[in-house]
Amino acid sequence: MLSPEKLKKAYKKVEEENWMMRTFLKGQDPDEVDRIVNKLHEEIFDGFDCVACSNCCKEVAPILETHEIKAVSAKVGVTAAELKNKYLVKTEDGYMIKQKTCPFLTGNGCSIYDCRPENCRKYPYTQKDEIVSRLANLVANCAVCPIVYEIFERLKEYYQGEFRTFKDGGWELYGDGYEYDLEDEDEEYDDFEEWEADVDYFYKQDWAGLVEYRFQQAKKHPDAPEYQWRLGEAYVLNKEYEKAIFFLAGLHKKYPDDLDIQYSLLDALFAVDKDETAVNWIVKPTILRLNNDVLDYCYNFLKPKRKPRTIADLCLELCEKGYMAFKEQQLMEFLRSNDRFTVKGSTEASHDCFVSVVKKIWHLRVVSLAVMPIHEKNQIGGLVAKNDRRFHS
Ligand code: SF4
Ligand code: SF4
Repeated sequence: MLSPEKLKKAYKKVEEENWMMRTFLKGQDPDEVDRIVNKLHEEIFDGFDCVACSNCCKEVAPILETHEIKAVSAKVGVTAAELKNKYLVKTEDGYMIKQKTCPFLTGNGCSIYDCRPENCRKYPYTQKDEIVSRLANLVANCAVCPIVYEIFERLKEYYQGEFRTFKDGGWELYGDGYEYDLEDEDEEYDDFEEWEADVDYFYKQDWAGLVEYRFQQAKKHPDAPEYQWRLGEAYVLNKEYEKAIFFLAGLHKKYPDDLDIQYSLLDALFAVDKDETAVNWIVKPTILRLNNDVLDYCYNFLKPKRKPRTIADLCLELCEKGYMAFKEQQLMEFLRSNDRFTVKGSTEASHDCFVSVVKKIWHLRVVSLAVMPIHEKNQIGGLVAKNDRRFHS
């Protein structure tokens, strides 16, 4: 069995595979999965020294019910108010221990063992039924609990033939759905504080923090596509591309017309050098590439404009047409190399790089009276200007 110190490193190596396993298990008989996981729980916990490990007490903060707050405060010899004040923080789910390493953990294990919260007693929940509805939590707990890690390794052995076929089956098998087992709260993503926290992670470019934050939000709003997509987008920003693909492909099956989901899924695919053919689309996205269609679109958009437009403006317009499989910088270079466009300004910043189309110019041709036909001379007399419809390019 792995020691807690080695667990995180080991988990990094199997993380993607474990998420794949999760998708695979969702397609299995749930009763069978319960039976196997419960049996593995018995086998592996038997004789295992949790006190020597205590990793969950260092990594997972338990929630305390009201009666547990009373029991623990009596055990510790403080009032419930003092306990809350010193050790707990109020969350939407109840009072939670606020320190990452539990203050009741000692070198000999839990100092409040006989009245420890139910969250601690039941952790890691592998002895319970309905495992298939809690697989996301279990995969996350592979990085915390050596027992859960071991259960996943043995599940892979147990299902090895079918799991290999599943993995070899390719991307079309992706997307059984990344669903949560929490209650449907179906709220709109309109709470200002939630937005503020989200923007804060963005501002700091704390992508791991953003994933964690949005994961919790997605759990709270399992049937709101906006929250689900935002989690997928955070995986992409945090460069967890494989996980993003699993997750977003599942969401696409559920919400096939959602463009945000389609585009983030494409972001993840392109980031790992795959393309749109790697996914079985329910609704195929429109993908724009740097070709004549894009040139024509840019030309027709810019032609009636009196003033140049920035590359950023152009990209905004193109976004309306489909997913841009190129970067702003590449569009800038592409237009610069085409003689139908004039590109001026920054070579890097899209909002400071201005594009216009090359206009047709009406040239003046000076025609000598000596060679002008007599009827034209009679009409206007003297020197005349004639329009020369020569396209200046
Ligand atoms: S209360 Fe005890 S069992 Fe629960 S996290 Fe703290 S030390 Fe661990
Ligand atoms: S439940 Fe898991 S993480 Fe917690 S002490 Fe036991 S083996 Fe370690």
